[in-house]
Amino acid sequence: MNKELLKYLYTTSGTVDLIKKVPNSDKEFIKITKKIIVYELKYIKYLSLYKDIIKALKIGYKNAYLGYLHPAEGINRFILERYSLSILIKNATNIYKKVLKNKDWHRMVDDGYVIRYGGEALGKIKKYIDKKEIDKYTIYFAGKPVCENHLKWNDYSKEIKYLYKNLNIRPDKNIKCSFCNSKAKYFTIAMPKAGALISLAYETINRDPNFMLKLYSNLSRILHPYGFMDLERKKVFTAWARDLFMIFLEINKVLDPENFNMEGKSAYFLLKYFINEILN
Ligand SMILES: [Zn+2]
Repeated sequence: MNKELLKYLYTTSGTVDLIKKVPNSDKEFIKITKKIIVYELKYIKYLSLYKDIIKALKIGYKNAYLGYLHPAEGINRFILERYSLSILIKNATNIYKKVLKNKDWHRMVDDGYVIRYGGEALGKIKKYIDKKEIDKYTIYFAGKPVCENHLKWNDYSKEIKYLYKNLNIRPDKNIKCSFCNSKAKYFTIAMPKAGALISLAYETINRDPNFMLKLYSNLSRILHPYGFMDLERKKVFTAWARDLFMIFLEINKVLDPENFNMEGKSAYFLLKYFINEILN
């Protein structure tokens, strides 16, 4: 395989920083990339939001192949988000799936039910239950306490009494409604922003979120703040594939830790695994 390509796949630095050094992809690399994507479906199908991810992979591939860097990398970011949300849904609550289905996510964010970063959510949970665990009950404490009058999102709320009972913890009697200061009766769940989403999802699997957060901010930087970057079609495919492979490798490490136990985090390791284990 093309040495220059391999060298690029070995890097984990930000795409924007490397943009002048991205090598052209060749036919062989495009072919292998396609095979890897098909292979990855075997893992992705276990994620709760797999349908979104599969659709995204098709659109991402098409855009990268045609040389559209920004939409292709935007799709990578979407895949990363959907994967993280799938982890949170599986290990905490599938209420988020319902919120997506009902298209209430942005409405709740507009109403202020939002988690801006992981530390904010964990701090709130700790405040109410003195533990930093995330499960189907504790996740509500990262939201907002509301009284009977201010209960707007009934479907996404739980009675405080019920939550404490299930956690086997003595209830905190001084929880006030965040809108009027009278006694709160419910907690309404909040929607995590991307960074918070990654942190909370990784908290549920006891894994350091830093690499995923780094990948996320890398992808965000391609889209903002520099705007459009001119990159030749064959280079776009390489840049996109490297970033996608890093996401895949991380997903595989989480879903199949036995086979993906290598230290390395770069796209190169995914490719190497694939060539050794699958093609041979
Ligand atoms: Zn109130």
